Amino acid sequence: MEYEVVIGMEMHVELNTTSKMFCACPARFFGAEPNTQTCPTCLGMPGALPTLNRRAIEDTVLLGMALNCQINTHTFWERKSYWYPDLPKGYQITQYEYPMCHDGAIDLDVRDLSNGWNDVSYAKRVRIRRAHLEEDTGKLTHAGDVSLVDYNRSGVPLVEIVTEPDIFSAHEAYAYLSAIQDIVRYLGIGTADMEKGALRCEPNLSLRPRGSSAFGTKVEIKNLNSLRAVRDSIAFEIERQTALLNAGGRVRQVTLGWDDARGVTVEQRSKEDAHDYRYFPEPDLPPLDIDAAWLGEIRSRLIELPLDKARRYQSALGLSAYDAAVLTSDPAIAAWFERAAGPSPTPARVKAAANWISTDLFRLMKGGVALADVKVQPEQLGELIDLVDAKTVNISTARSVFEEMFASGQSAGAIVAAKGLGQINDVATLSTVVDGVLAASPSQVAQYRAGQEKLFGYFVGQAMKATQGKGNAQVLNTLLRRALGAASQT
Ligand SMILES: [Zn+2]
Repeated sequence: MEYEVVIGMEMHVELNTTSKMFCACPARFFGAEPNTQTCPTCLGMPGALPTLNRRAIEDTVLLGMALNCQINTHTFWERKSYWYPDLPKGYQITQYEYPMCHDGAIDLDVRDLSNGWNDVSYAKRVRIRRAHLEEDTGKLTHAGDVSLVDYNRSGVPLVEIVTEPDIFSAHEAYAYLSAIQDIVRYLGIGTADMEKGALRCEPNLSLRPRGSSAFGTKVEIKNLNSLRAVRDSIAFEIERQTALLNAGGRVRQVTLGWDDARGVTVEQRSKEDAHDYRYFPEPDLPPLDIDAAWLGEIRSRLIELPLDKARRYQSALGLSAYDAAVLTSDPAIAAWFERAAGPSPTPARVKAAANWISTDLFRLMKGGVALADVKVQPEQLGELIDLVDAKTVNISTARSVFEEMFASGQSAGAIVAAKGLGQINDVATLSTVVDGVLAASPSQVAQYRAGQEKLFGYFVGQAMKATQGKGNAQVLNTLLRRALGAASQT
């Protein structure tokens, strides 16, 4: 029988605010000694009171806006009770009844590579059920018989995003995750680095006979620390469950882990019915009201998002889907490109700027240089493109000029002037060169005039040599034809 997979995604995104959600400890704890970024509040000491982090609230609302969510302007905090060593208070402060953001949607461009080279791309919309703000837990490390706990992460602001079951393949899951990652980075509200746990996701998936509307038994996959692991684990589960169902077996409701080295899912525990978390309103925090002015202030931080930008680069600037994707992968690159192309650029200039960035600039940055540290400014690349357009330099000279600009930060014009690299366009100067070449090669001139027309290339070569490669090739051609032809008539 043919089955189809239905996937819902639950995801946690750490915010990169300066301080934690409910105390003044640093939220950027990565690399710090264990248990050094803590205080009585995030250690859950009795009597320690939480205070709200305004920036974390704004970042969550901003993310909700980017995900086209409705924003609950009146919410409150709730305690989710459960006991686990990474949660020192015995409860997590979260939002349950009224999440800050709900009923949104995200648009994706999905690339399905499952047919090998027949790469299929299509647009897709995934509905967002809710996105709310809560606090992160500490981190447990299991080593043999002992478990170590580090509370540096305890209380870091965390946004939980839950989708509707709208994802129907491993490729769509991959596209969804990378789109969220891009948005978080564009908005500058987090690193969304999966390897460092700043973005964590738990897909739940079930198989059902194709065409059926009922849901099958759901499994959840945890411990996924890369986009590739998400895609591969889902693909693995689809295959495993299809084989199991076709053999007459039944899928059990379990939580699975992903063994990246072996490329298999591993059962962690069977899933009991929903826990009784005994949610109740947090008595130590007032309800949260966001008024229209504050909402407007947050909305003003909403910038053009990566997918919109990529689509605009294609429709308005005429770039290919590939070029658009490369240039919008990082907001800093996109901004650099727009400055290099300049205001209201022609299609040729857009293409030139895109080519310079994706070939020469990226090649020179390969040594590990960050864009922020690149000495050459985008407007300086714009000037170099102008010099090529105006035929002041030819393209191969321009390439070496750009290398020098990259190394020194000098302008293209200054380098061309200092090194005398400018293309020679002056007709009088080039006429003198042509006269000299003809005078120095009387036998070749005679042969050419006797009908050896392929000798023309020889004269061009001599003229370019005489100008150290800087002669305008078009002008030289015209002058040579005229000189050789005119002389033959005398
Ligand atoms: Zn603290």
